[in-house]
Amino acid sequence: LVASLERVDQTYIMVKPDGVQRGLVGEIISRFEKKGFKLTGLKLTQCSKDLAEEHYKDLKGKSFFPGLIEYITSGPVVCMAWEGVGVVASARKLIGVTNPLEAEPGSIRGDLAIQKGRNVIHGSDSPESGKREVALWFKEGELVDWEPALASWLI
Ligand code: ADP
Ligand code: MG
Repeated sequence: LVASLERVDQTYIMVKPDGVQRGLVGEIISRFEKKGFKLTGLKLTQCSKDLAEEHYKDLKGKSFFPGLIEYITSGPVVCMAWEGVGVVASARKLIGVTNPLEAEPGSIRGDLAIQKGRNVIHGSDSPESGKREVALWFKEGELVDWEPALASWLI
């Protein structure tokens, strides 16, 4: 089995406030579910300014940072933890590049968004960020470790 030979990673995926307001939650979750990754955490929350700033701390000096924090805290977000071999890079492909106008058709941003500042979804950029962000957004008791019954057909 591939999974027994390679490292299983986790990634933090979040439907941003515009995605929730536009009714895209189901469509977005569906794309990850169909791909076959394992969902280990899921919740709707309205995040504080402190949490948003901690999440995006690497972007603190950027001109768009204040606008980004306002955007992320403007309404509820859907937080997800997904697990699997290669899940971080694969999720970034499913999501598409930051600027939705440049994102490939078929990707979430390529299909569903236009503006960088309203690009509907977040995905961790490395296995290290994935670990950090899942731990930042979820308490331990909110994550579930489970064995998908159909795993042998997927991996
Ligand atoms: P990504 O979400 O693709 O990993 P970044 O980590 O570079 O992109 O940026 C985080 C988020 O900040 C982006 O998803 C986007 O919502 C916002 N952002 C990035 N660059 C810009 C920009 N030039 N103008 C407005 N918002 C931006
Ligand atoms: Mg990023």
